[in-house]
Amino acid sequence: MKAAIMEGINGKIHSTNIQDPEPADDEIVIRQNLTGICYRDLLTHDGFFPRAKFPIVPGHEVSGIVAKTGKSVKKIKVGDRVASLIYIPCGKCEYCRSGRENLCPNKQTLGETVQGSYADMVKVPERCVVRVPPAVPEELATISACVTGMVYHALSVSGQILPGENVLVTGAGGGVGVHAVQVAKALGATVFAYTSSKWKAEKLQEIGVDHVLLSDEFDREVKSFPGGGIDLALDTVGLPTFSRSLRSLKFGGRLVVIGNVQPVPVELPLGLIILKGNRVEGSISSTREDMKKALQLSAKGSIKPVIADKVDLDHIEDAYSMMKEKRNLGRVLIELKR
Ligand SMILES: [Zn+2]
Ligand SMILES: [Zn+2]
Repeated sequence: MKAAIMEGINGKIHSTNIQDPEPADDEIVIRQNLTGICYRDLLTHDGFFPRAKFPIVPGHEVSGIVAKTGKSVKKIKVGDRVASLIYIPCGKCEYCRSGRENLCPNKQTLGETVQGSYADMVKVPERCVVRVPPAVPEELATISACVTGMVYHALSVSGQILPGENVLVTGAGGGVGVHAVQVAKALGATVFAYTSSKWKAEKLQEIGVDHVLLSDEFDREVKSFPGGGIDLALDTVGLPTFSRSLRSLKFGGRLVVIGNVQPVPVELPLGLIILKGNRVEGSISSTREDMKKALQLSAKGSIKPVIADKVDLDHIEDAYSMMKEKRNLGRVLIELKR
């Protein structure tokens, strides 16, 4: 099958032919048409994930049709339409046993410690996958673990979002942000979208954002937010937006951090969070339960895919440049052509 290989930190990414995957007893092989490019893949390439084993097939956003099953696979059949978690949970620890497999300390990550998704076919254990309802567009199946499911987890499980709350999404024009604003709307929030790119504002309004905030207006407008400020800020960026996210919060407001594009420490003004009773929380990935919820919202049409571009396996480096330079509005996908 065709796959892309990342040779090493800052190394070349090139397409090649490798052996088709064969499932172990508890595994299934999924044949894909699409996979997503995640900012995490760029950070892996830059060397920020020390556990990554090179050379590797990068990527972790998996969906498609089951092509093969191992001997002990029971619930999933060849021909089923499925999507996978971005990691392989151990299935045995306290987190896995309580439905919090996103916190499994023993997990393997696709595209870092095991072969990833930039390939025609991917194998994962049966315990990684959920069924994808027929009404879900393929683009949304592909991003149901790492984008919509992850955002659902951050807003709902970590952020405990309530209908009617003011929710701020930073990096709103990015692949995560454009879908996060839609999940927040679907969960009943009034959505404030923060973007540094003026040209992305119109599209954000089109997909239902209530208030678009550009960098230069943010500090002025944050003081006059209706309701006294933001109840729940979802920071998809990290260092460049963290301070603004924190300062946007009203008394008792929560900040959930899911992005870290510049992996260096941020300043945390303890006086401010004590005085205002704010909460700052990290949120990691999604569970299978979150994926099911996100796929239900996708099947209902509450989330629409916003795709910046589709590239093939020979043009991944171009896609990485586009994302680094923030030229993409929405998710960049890889189209796997056979
Ligand atoms: Zn991802
Ligand atoms: Zn575990």
